[in-house]
Amino acid sequence: MNSNEMYEKMKAKLDRIVPDVELRYKAEIAVEINELKLQRNAVILGHNYMEPALFHSIPDFTGDSLDLSRKAAQTDKDVIVFCGVRFMAETAKILNPTKTVLLPAVKAGCSLAESITAADVRALKAKFPGVPVVTYVNTYADVKAESDICCTSSNAAAVVDSLHSETVIFLPDEYLAKNVARDTGKHIIFPTIAGRGVFDQVPESDQAAGEGTHSTNDLDYQLIGWRGRCEVHEKFTLKDIETVRAQFPDVAILAHPECSPEVTAAADFSGSTNAMIRFVQQSKAPHYLLLTECAMGDNVAAANPEKDMLRLCMVRCPHMNMITMEDTRDSLKFNRYIIEVPEEIRVKAYQAVDRMIKIS
Ligand code: SF4
Repeated sequence: MNSNEMYEKMKAKLDRIVPDVELRYKAEIAVEINELKLQRNAVILGHNYMEPALFHSIPDFTGDSLDLSRKAAQTDKDVIVFCGVRFMAETAKILNPTKTVLLPAVKAGCSLAESITAADVRALKAKFPGVPVVTYVNTYADVKAESDICCTSSNAAAVVDSLHSETVIFLPDEYLAKNVARDTGKHIIFPTIAGRGVFDQVPESDQAAGEGTHSTNDLDYQLIGWRGRCEVHEKFTLKDIETVRAQFPDVAILAHPECSPEVTAAADFSGSTNAMIRFVQQSKAPHYLLLTECAMGDNVAAANPEKDMLRLCMVRCPHMNMITMEDTRDSLKFNRYIIEVPEEIRVKAYQAVDRMIKIS
């Protein structure tokens, strides 16, 4: 495909979303990337939060982190370029260790992944011996290696249930944990740390986190959480929802489960990235508002041109935003940045990720 053909392909999807001059410039880079991809025998995986021009041009596969983990595990290409953030590229390496995995921006991290360390998980396990550990995929490999099983926002409740355990440690997203606790009728506690790794009593303010349906007896809890948060989804508020509903009473509001429990409860639908896409495709509501990352909203709007998507775009993930088409081209050209996971950690992390994939 030459750059004119690429431009026409991108314009068909992004006419209303990306300025024409940007489309022409990025179409040329996309052609360069595709040539390099062939030369390197590479596959490009594009997360739903990639900027629209990248998302609709170069990835061989797009999707959420679980979709892309599966594609990474199945590929027979020599090189996997992960247009996403570091924990996703690490997961690709964990699942397919003989491949070269490249992350176009070396500093593309995640506030959730950075909220917890492997030492924190070991300290929790020492405090709650024998309690299984579920870890959200938005964590680094060494944290996964300390876990029994991983989960995504789409299968978190199913993973918790699969353990058939009275109590589960659920890390590190505070809001996802609270949303799972509410949806499954479990009572959650958040141990506080006095100094890293030393646990005090559960604070009173957390005793009612499980919707107040359980007694506040110290032993009456089923989930043990952590105070990590997604710096994007934590920004949406109840006030945002009230303001939009006042102007558009018939709007369908969709919220990601990394939003606060108040926001997910007030939304019409809460679900993972893929579940939100399905909802928009299948629903007949006159307007939609997605309380999630900005680029994801743009990509859903591009894929559903007949639907009226309202914009409340104030939060672009700064980590996802680091992945540009220029950096993606350079990652293939200069073989950077190579993601490595020490084998001892990889083997243990693999078990946790593989268990998750089997449940999904
Ligand atoms: S959107 Fe939130 S969870 Fe996703 S990478 Fe950015 S900070 Fe992490």
